[in-house]
Parts: sequence; structure tokens; C-alpha cells
Amino acid sequence: MYHWVSGCPGDRLRAWGITPEQFESQMRHLAEEGYGTVSLREVVEAARGIRPAPQKAVALTFDDGYADFLHNVLPVLERHGFTATVFLVADQVGRTNAWDARHGDPPRTLLGWEEAAGLARRGIEIGSHARTHRFLPDLSGPELEEEIRGSKETIEDRLGRAVRFFSYPHGLHDERCVAGVAAAGYEGAVADIRGGNRAGTDPFRLRRTLVTVHDGRWSFAFKLRTGFGMREWAEWRIRQPGCGPVSAPREAVS
Ligand SMILES: [Zn+2]
Repeated sequence: MYHWVSGCPGDRLRAWGITPEQFESQMRHLAEEGYGTVSLREVVEAARGIRPAPQKAVALTFDDGYADFLHNVLPVLERHGFTATVFLVADQVGRTNAWDARHGDPPRTLLGWEEAAGLARRGIEIGSHARTHRFLPDLSGPELEEEIRGSKETIEDRLGRAVRFFSYPHGLHDERCVAGVAAAGYEGAVADIRGGNRAGTDPFRLRRTLVTVHDGRWSFAFKLRTGFGMREWAEWRIRQPGCGPVSAPREAVS
């Protein structure tokens, strides 16, 4: 799970960004280790048990739709033959990440509709990250419907292609959100529950692993193998029933 890839990763929100140098080296690492990228549709097929994903496969996602994707991400992906999904905030397209203003970091520019359409033509999947990036579990029924179904319709109208995947803003979702996403016709949704995805994972609660500016080569490799950061993984292990000797989880799509 990525957000912005920028030479200025930020201050208060720094952990959500990475630098272009980090991104390049991470993609090189994937290629050198024999990983390929899969689409979210392939992740959903694996989760539903329809078709297993390749052993060394990751799906790359970019929340919020930052304009830096065009210069700092797309050329690197294309060089490696990788693909990704970009999640747009429907009412903020062409504007800035106004929902983060309260944290005090400078605003970041978001992709415009033309740019998003260009990405779609180049094989980047475009998903919805709701209409306004609000906390979905706090919303009334009609507001929730507008964020989930309304954002899908807006993006489909503007891009002229189906929007098949949803990303919960702030990762926040409850039963009502999950039901709303399924009812609106999405094929799947990504949360920010850490770990890998495998047969049996709920397609509307796909797991993701945040890659941060603090990740060096070693911690990125660890996240790639386990779907967890070191501390998260230790905490997850402790919660497992009969927690015994530690062994790494199998390769997984994350
Ligand atoms: Zn977001």
C-alpha cells in the first residue's frame, strides 16, 4: 500500500510517503527476487479460490491518486512490466488532499481526470477511494451510499470504464460499509489490515501492507515475505492461539 512517492515525503504525515529513490529500489528488489505484479482481480480470484495467484506475486496499490504517480511511479512500473491500482477520491480529482489539511503538512496535488484517463489507457486500474475521504462508519445510510455508489458512478462517467475496486478511506470499515460496497457492484475492496491474501480471505476486506519512508531494503524484504512490519508481526504472532516457535508465513499476495 502506497500513497505519495515524492522527494518531499512530508513532516507529520511522513510515514505515509516514500521517496522516488526508495520506490525505484523497491521495484528493483521485486524484480531481482523474481516477484511479479498481479491485478486486484487476480487477488480476488485467488481469495475466492477460483485460481491461485503465482507464488511470488504482489498487487501494488496507490491510495488518494497523487499526481506524483505520473513521474515517480509510472515510468518505474513500465520499465519492470509491473501494474498497479490507483484509488481516486472522486470529488477531489484535480485538487488536493484537503482531508489531511488538519495535520499541517503542505497540500499535495492530485491527478486530474485527463491524467487518470491516460493512466487507465496505459493499463493502470482505477478504483474508488470514496467521494470525500470521510470516516465511513460515522455516516448515515444515504451519505454512505453517496460515498460508495456515488463515487463509483462519478468515476465511471468521467473515465468511461468500469470501477471494480474500492479502498476504504483511512482503512475504516464496518459491516455496513462492506455490505454497501458489495451491493454497489464492486468486485472487491482493500482495507489496511496487514498480512497477505490467500484462498478464504474476504474479497471485501483484502489485506494490505503499508510501505513507509522508514523502510530500508531489509524491512521492505520482510514486509514482502510476511505482509507485516516487524513489530506488527510480533504482535500478530502473540495473538495467535497456541503461539509457539516463530516461523515465517508462506509467500502471499499482499
Ligand atoms: Zn486515503
